[in-house]
Amino acid sequence: MELWYTEKQTEAFGITAKIKETLVREKTEFQDLAIIDTEEFGRMLVLDGMVMTTVKDEFVYHEMVAHPALFTHPNPRKVLVVGGGDGGVIREIMKHPKVEKAVLVDIDGKVIEYSKKFLPEIAGELDNPRVEVQVNDGYMHIHEHKNEYDIIMVDSTEPVGPAVELFSRGFYQAIYESLHEDGIFVAQTDNPWFKADLIQSVNRDVKEIFPIVRVYGANIPTYPSGLWTFTMGSKVYDPLEVDENTIPEIETKYYTPKLHKAAFVLPKFVEDLCKG
Ligand code: SAM
Repeated sequence: MELWYTEKQTEAFGITAKIKETLVREKTEFQDLAIIDTEEFGRMLVLDGMVMTTVKDEFVYHEMVAHPALFTHPNPRKVLVVGGGDGGVIREIMKHPKVEKAVLVDIDGKVIEYSKKFLPEIAGELDNPRVEVQVNDGYMHIHEHKNEYDIIMVDSTEPVGPAVELFSRGFYQAIYESLHEDGIFVAQTDNPWFKADLIQSVNRDVKEIFPIVRVYGANIPTYPSGLWTFTMGSKVYDPLEVDENTIPEIETKYYTPKLHKAAFVLPKFVEDLCKG
């Protein structure tokens, strides 16, 4: 008998993946957690029925959350990741020697525990001495740490359950106050096909708070629609003013110095969402 995992991306559309093995399935304090081994994308972390990351395509998302901001800020010494318990964004941050400390704050310790056990190629840098892992509500952490970070990356689940507040205007205001005077923030902001209103509302809120706001995209086959967006808010530095010839070579599989700026060139229907 064949076993398939289906993610309903809307009430009327989804994706389905043939399962080889279920490695863990647990109802944690915060969400329904599963790590399954799939034929097409390998091991896959699923939270509340939504694909979080897969061994085959995770590099796209994790490189694109981390490197545009880290190569825009000239001296990113202290970085915060809200969410990101699978460790993929932390792994990318560790490729930047200028970063002295990366703090990860994920509300669910089970995500961290099981990612370390079943997704070592993604979670492997969580034990790096430059990394401090905290199990806490990122919303609380941001409000309790003012003027502390050069870069803040929000690598949260979609605005459901414990992540609802991580897409609110108040949260972005608190992020602004948690950043240093030349800080940069970046958040994953879902897809323009099924979540256009979210992209629009986040863009509007962030524009009221940050002087520089840029949206960029990437292709992530296992995420809803495959076209994913990220919203960057910056107090001083503009990612589009980075000279790609000054971006040092690092080990990546998606991000490149040329793609740093190209990613900000959006299809018209996405660009239109970010006007106003
Ligand atoms: N790349 C994925 C995406 O774009 O949907 C996100 C992956 S990461 C595993 C998402 C993490 O956000 C989860 O581990 C979850 O526990 C965490 N999270 C959700 N709400 C949170 C909150 N309020 N504070 C900290 N972490 C939170």
